[in-house]
Amino acid sequence: MAAHQLLKRGAKVTMLESGIEFPKGRLIRILGKNLFRRFPEMRCNDRHVPTGAPETKWYYTMAPGGLSNNWTGAVPRFTPDDFTEGERLGPQWRWPVTYPDMVPWYETVEPLLTITAGTDEVPMLPKGLAAYRRALPLDWQPLAEAARRHGQGFSTIPICEGPPTLIVNRAAAFNSFTEIVQPLLRNADFTLQTGMHALKLEWNSAKGCVSGIVCRNRATGNDERIECDAVVLAAGPLNSTKILFDSACSDHPQGLGNNHGVLGLYLHDHPKEWWVLDLDRPTSLLAPAGYVTRKPFETSEPLMANSWTMGVADDKDKIRSRFGLKGDRVAVQVFGTMVPTTDYYVRPCASTKDEFGTPKLDIHIQFDKPVIDNMVQARGHLRFLMEEAGMKPVPQPVEPQLYPGVAVHYGGTARMHSDPQFGVVDAWNRVFDARNVLVVDAACFTTGSEKNPTLTAMALAARASDRLIDDLKSGAA
Ligand SMILES: Cc1cc2nc3c(=O)[nH]c(=O)nc-3n(C[C@H](O)[C@H](O)[C@H](O)COP(=O)(O)OP(=O)(O)OC[C@H]3O[C@@H](n4cnc5c(N)ncnc54)[C@H](O)[C@@H]3O)c2cc1C
Repeated sequence: MAAHQLLKRGAKVTMLESGIEFPKGRLIRILGKNLFRRFPEMRCNDRHVPTGAPETKWYYTMAPGGLSNNWTGAVPRFTPDDFTEGERLGPQWRWPVTYPDMVPWYETVEPLLTITAGTDEVPMLPKGLAAYRRALPLDWQPLAEAARRHGQGFSTIPICEGPPTLIVNRAAAFNSFTEIVQPLLRNADFTLQTGMHALKLEWNSAKGCVSGIVCRNRATGNDERIECDAVVLAAGPLNSTKILFDSACSDHPQGLGNNHGVLGLYLHDHPKEWWVLDLDRPTSLLAPAGYVTRKPFETSEPLMANSWTMGVADDKDKIRSRFGLKGDRVAVQVFGTMVPTTDYYVRPCASTKDEFGTPKLDIHIQFDKPVIDNMVQARGHLRFLMEEAGMKPVPQPVEPQLYPGVAVHYGGTARMHSDPQFGVVDAWNRVFDARNVLVVDAACFTTGSEKNPTLTAMALAARASDRLIDDLKSGAA
């Protein structure tokens, strides 16, 4: 989205992509039903050292399209309160942007995603722009009514499903490479360099800004320097921060953007749990999935929330759903939240190196008791709503799965804040200590709401890049 917006505003853009080849998958979608999906492989756990929970995972895909090669495509907007509710704890947790600031940028991104979403406005989920609308099956309406009585919503999840019929060599209808980057290749001002792994940004002491990027060319094994006026980091929420740490120099000995010691801190993640409820009668299968929105802010502890995504439990039900048949169970994926603090962080690991000879990341995070309790309470709350809706759900046993990294939704390690004591980037994603460097992925999230992060990261990337052009023109960057 950064490249897309920069080019729209007339900039020359070089995109450095560590991966070499687009990893093929397969999606066959006919008449609005996904008949077949094959995902490419993700890598995990070979670039970090867990020093919090030993089970901590770090999934990544170093390839054009990144993790969008593997993603599901759920794209709920954040609500207005998601940007302000942290204030209940203190100014440290207040975003420097508001929902009204974000609306034009959500509206810029959503049309590119070919979203299918619900038909009604529901509490705690802004109704974004969608290409297709799908109502919930009628036999799930009582749950929607029960949720509404408690200030919550139940609707079709906003999801990038694409058009009703699609046969493509990728696993998801929306892939950031095929849907956004490839079309940019027609623009003469855009250059894509694949196999170029960014190692560090080069600080120019005399000019007081970054003037180049050092990359490892995977084809030659050599390091190359690329001259730049500005840098937009969008390598994923841990990789972008790693590049800033690895850019330490005599003016910035603790890492670029780390003059106040905030870089890497406030790491947060979604605890994620998946379980199945048996139902007492045949009920419509939820494909696309349904989404129960969070409890109202005033009834929840600050920054503590859950969302419940309800869908089909297994391949058998997936096939049944294609023929409009009913089923007798529903699978539930719950996301929870945690309060981001300085206790959890990433930082360069002193003793071990990755394949490029740069330090692996020490990932220090665990889910504390209030976080786990919130997830356990979420199991009971959904059953409570379903029982109020006249259903009789019986839970199947829940496997232990509450390990950091499982949701692949890390955020916060180069967070936005109006005060450099609490943030690495300002309200326009510019690094406080390096004004011509932006961080525009979920590393910039001030707090993590219970909603999937990617739409908000894309909207922030477009917004920040638009401003960068003005700043470059006025000399502010
Ligand atoms: C199974 C699964 C399901 C998911 N479902 C959802 C969902 O439903 N909704 C949602 O919002 N999110 C979902 N996610 C998360 C989503 O995929 C990520 O939030 C999103 O892809 C992040 O985008 P990004 O561009 O910031 O990072 P990435 O997708 O990680 O892309 C980073 C890019 O930077 C490149 N790169 C990294 N380091 C360097 C370097 N040093 N030099 C050069 N290039 C580099 C990589 O090769 C890659 O192309 C899911 C993830 C997974 C794995």
